[in-house]
Amino acid sequence: MIAVTSSERPLPAFVQQPLKMLIDGQWVDAVSGKTSPVENPATGKEFARVPAGAAADIDLAVQAARRAFEKGTWARMSAVQKERILWRLSDLFEQHIDELVELEIIDNGMPISLITRAIERAIDGFRYYAGMCTKLHGVTSEISGQRADFHAYTLVEPVGVVGLIVPWNSPFSAACNKIAPALAAGCSAVLKPAEQTPLTALFIGRLALEAGIPPGVLNVVTGNGQDAGAALANHPDVNKISFTGSTEVGKQLVHAAAGNLKRLTLELGGKSPVFVFDDADMDIAIPRAAAAIFSNSGQICYAGSRLYIQKNSFDKVVAGIADIAKKMRMGDSFDKKTELGPLISKRQHETVLGYIESGIAEGAELVTGGHAPQGDGYYVEPTVFANTGNAMRIVNEEIFGPVLCAMPFNDLKDVPALANATPYGLGAGIFTSNISTAHLAAKRINTGNVWVNFYGGADKSMPFGGTRQSGWGREGSIEGIEAFLEKKAVYIRL
Ligand code: NAD
Repeated sequence: MIAVTSSERPLPAFVQQPLKMLIDGQWVDAVSGKTSPVENPATGKEFARVPAGAAADIDLAVQAARRAFEKGTWARMSAVQKERILWRLSDLFEQHIDELVELEIIDNGMPISLITRAIERAIDGFRYYAGMCTKLHGVTSEISGQRADFHAYTLVEPVGVVGLIVPWNSPFSAACNKIAPALAAGCSAVLKPAEQTPLTALFIGRLALEAGIPPGVLNVVTGNGQDAGAALANHPDVNKISFTGSTEVGKQLVHAAAGNLKRLTLELGGKSPVFVFDDADMDIAIPRAAAAIFSNSGQICYAGSRLYIQKNSFDKVVAGIADIAKKMRMGDSFDKKTELGPLISKRQHETVLGYIESGIAEGAELVTGGHAPQGDGYYVEPTVFANTGNAMRIVNEEIFGPVLCAMPFNDLKDVPALANATPYGLGAGIFTSNISTAHLAAKRINTGNVWVNFYGGADKSMPFGGTRQSGWGREGSIEGIEAFLEKKAVYIRL
C-alpha cells in the first residue's frame, strides 16, 4: 500500500455560497433555521453547512410536489417536451462534470478516476430514462363478455408524489438512478440525500431548474435520516418511497409505508460472494476479485466481500490479491493514480476497524492490511483475511469497508450453499473457463445479479436489485420506470 498525501485545494465556488434546500423552485433554509456540518472524509474537517431539514421542511416539499403533480405542469406535459427537458438536464450534467466530480470528491472521498466513470455512467443512465418518456404506453386486450363486446385497454400513469432516499456511497449516481425514472414516469419528487453527502443533490437541483423542470417537480431536502428521512417515509401524502440504503433502515421503511400503504422499492445491503474455480484465467480472476472488494474502499453495496477459491488455487489467489492490496495507492483522491480513498466518516472508520479486530479475535488469519494509516482522514488499508469461516461476523455481516474474507471450496456442488449462506442476495461473481460451470453456478446462486469472469456494475438496460434481504424491486431497465407507474384497466362497452 502506497500512501500519498492529500492536497489542500480551494473550495469549489458552489460551496462558498450559503447552501440552501430546494423547495417549490425556491432556495430555502430549514424552518428551524438549523444547519448541519458537511465534512471532508479525507481530512475529517467540516468545510460547509447545509440546512438541517426535518418534518416541517419535508411537509412543505411534499405539499409543493403534490401541487405540481395535481396542476399537471409536469405529469401532463407532452412526452416529447419532458424528454427534451430531461435530455437538457443530462447535457447540463455533462457540461458541469468537473464541478460534479470535485463536489463528490470533497463530500464522499471517492478517487477521481472512479468517480468520473461513475458520473459518466449515471449521465448515460439519465439519458436512457429521458428517452423512455416517449415510449411509455398501455396495451389493448382482446376481451369480450358473454353478452357484449368491449374495447379494453390499459393506461400507464405516474404513481404520484414520490420520496427518493439515497445513501452516501455513490451520491450522484444513486440520486440519478431514482430521479430519472421518477420524472420520466411523470411523478413529482422529494429527494433526501444522505446527511454525509448532500452536495451533488443540491447541485442537481440547481441544474434541474436551469433545464426547465417546473417548480415543485423536483425538491431537494437535506437532513438526517431520523428526522427528514423518517418524515418522508411516514408522510401520508407520499405515494411511493424509493430507497437505497441499509437493510436495517429498509425494514423500518416497511413499517413506515404501512400508514398509507405507499409503494416501496428497496435497494439494500449485501455480502456478495465471488467464486474462483481452478480453471479460471487467473490473470483476469485475481485483479477482478481484488477490485470487487477494494473499489471505493469496499463501500459498494455489491462489494465482493466473501471470496471462495477452489482449493488447489487457494494460496495462489490469496497471494495474488494480497500483492495487489499492498501495492494499491491510497490517499489524495484528486490524484488520478490514487486507487483508494478514505471511508466516509469517523463512525464508518471505527466500524470497519472494529470488524477487523473482531476477525482477529475470532481466529481469522490477517494476510495483509488491517490498520488505519497515520494522519488525517478516515483511511483503512486494504485488508485480506484467510482462515475465515461461516460462523465469523466478518463473513456474515456487511462491513462496507475494504475487508476481504477468503475461504476454500471443493467444487461446483458447494456453490449454492456457500453463496446463499447469508440473508443477503445482491451480487455474485464466478470466475471459470468452463461455460457449463458458469451457467450452472449462475442458476443456483440466489442473488439479483451475477457476473461471470467480471465483477460489478449495472447497465441501465438491465434490472438491478436484490433478492431476500437485499431488497424489493428493481432499478434499471423498463422495470425501473414501472416502479413509478400505475396501470389502469379501462373497459368500454361497445
Ligand atoms: P442508511 O440506511 O443508514 O441511510 C441511507 C439513507 O436513508 C440516508 O439518506 C439516510 O439519511 C436515510 N435514513 C436513515 N434512517 C432513516 C429512517 N429511519 N427513515 C428514512 N430514512 C432514513 O445507509 P447508508 O449507511 O447511508 O448506506 C450504506 C448502505 O446502503 C449499505 O448497507 C449498502 O449496502 C446500501 N446500499 C445499497 C445499494 C443497492 O443498490 N442495493 C446501493 C448503495 C448502498
